[in-house]
Amino acid sequence: MEPTKRIFDDSAYITKFEAKVLSCSECKNGFDAVLDSTAFFPEGGGQFPDKGTLNGIEVLDVQEDKEGIIHHFLPSAISEGEKVSRKINWQQRFDFMQQHSGEHIFSGLANSNFGATNVGFHLGYEETTIDLDVPLSEEQVQKLELLANEAVYKNLPIQITHPSQEELEVLPYRSKKKLSGKIRIVTVPEYDICACCGTHVNKTGEIGIIKITAFQNYKGGTRLFMLCGKRAFADYQRKNSSVIKVTNSLSVKPEELCFAVKRLENEITEHKIYEAALKKELFSLKAEKLGTGEKICVFEKGMTPDELRRYCLTLGENFKIAAVFNGEEGNYKYAVSSKTENCSAFAKAINSEFSGRGGGKPELVQGSCSGTSEEIRNFFNNL
Ligand SMILES: [Zn+2]
Repeated sequence: MEPTKRIFDDSAYITKFEAKVLSCSECKNGFDAVLDSTAFFPEGGGQFPDKGTLNGIEVLDVQEDKEGIIHHFLPSAISEGEKVSRKINWQQRFDFMQQHSGEHIFSGLANSNFGATNVGFHLGYEETTIDLDVPLSEEQVQKLELLANEAVYKNLPIQITHPSQEELEVLPYRSKKKLSGKIRIVTVPEYDICACCGTHVNKTGEIGIIKITAFQNYKGGTRLFMLCGKRAFADYQRKNSSVIKVTNSLSVKPEELCFAVKRLENEITEHKIYEAALKKELFSLKAEKLGTGEKICVFEKGMTPDELRRYCLTLGENFKIAAVFNGEEGNYKYAVSSKTENCSAFAKAINSEFSGRGGGKPELVQGSCSGTSEEIRNFFNNL
């Protein structure tokens, strides 16, 4: 069988056309249709496949084999020899064209400005990542972003060519691997020359926006998260709406937001310190009220695990054995402390009697158990 004629190579803008069904065979998850030509871009080069329909049947996946034959995976069969009309999901195709074209400009600039090579590219339905082999700083990323968007404003024509072997030898193009045979070159004048089989916009202005939303160190280089065009705009809308809500609730201007959040964080820390001091005083007063003695078992509500531990230790100062149970009837968190006895034995006893779990050090154990306050109190008194 001949390699499938790739309509998207000549124009990424053709979305409706007719083709002949060369074969349609049953496969693992449905049917595998091969046509004489296709505008469906198969998964490859880091880009997900196009979505769309074939005679109204949804195309689930598009894959190319080693012989250049493109397979369309369908949920139901179509007849061999039939002429089919096909429709590419244009929204998704154009979205990919925007992302892919933006990536060329950004990678070209990273290469010419910082000698970075694009070593990984992933274009998903929601996220695009670019992996560069050079670590970049925030300033460097911002500089590339700025230059990339200038390329958009210039509205340059993106050219697709198939140079001869001789021409290729002197052409300074980017490529992830050694290529041979007929090579498709995508050129963004002044910015990038790259071997690529993907779908791109005709003019850089169509990319709209090129935005890096995040970047991180990755394998000694940089992984960048990029949004272009409509995706970048949608992201801006979402984030702007969040910023408006937060600034309104904090009564600050957007540019004061970081400062306002920092101030809130500091206030929370101060409150926590003050609360801890108050709790300490409260626990001492409560302990004082209970007096001193051999054993004490008390029931509390709403304590944090740390408060439970601290209150139990405070009681342990005045009693030989102090136990605090915190929570609701039948569902308690407990702490037992003692300066003279081994508390691990108490934990074991509580756990086995009240299907609990937990343990700790000889002077303090913590855990959880079921059982009512009455049952627990009786058990504790008979210890
Ligand atoms: Zn490309």
